[in-house]
Amino acid sequence: MSLPPCPLCASEYTYEMGELIVCPECAHEWSPSEAAEQADAALIRDVNGNVLSDGDDVVIAKDLPVKGAGGGTIKVGTKVKGIRLQQGVGDHDIDATVPGFGRMQLKSSVVKKA
Ligand SMILES: [Zn+2]
Repeated sequence: MSLPPCPLCASEYTYEMGELIVCPECAHEWSPSEAAEQADAALIRDVNGNVLSDGDDVVIAKDLPVKGAGGGTIKVGTKVKGIRLQQGVGDHDIDATVPGFGRMQLKSSVVKKA
């Protein structure tokens, strides 16, 4: 089994020390299981828990009232093509162009993978 390189300095000379992996070059220590959990938590998932990716097509999972200019409601079942994921922006983590409404930010919790 090979160890991952150091996430800070990319050194390949990492070694295991108990539960931790240690980098001898920059003295960084980290827990591989925690790193995996963080990577997993950073994934953006749809209403069913499926992982979404850039460029995915999704379907709106419930009627969404639109505030602001024009208003209206994005109907459940509306297909949205080629979404862009946005990390670290809070709830509205999908940048998408919705037919009839234009470009907007959506919550991953209101879409499902098409
Ligand atoms: Zn390092």
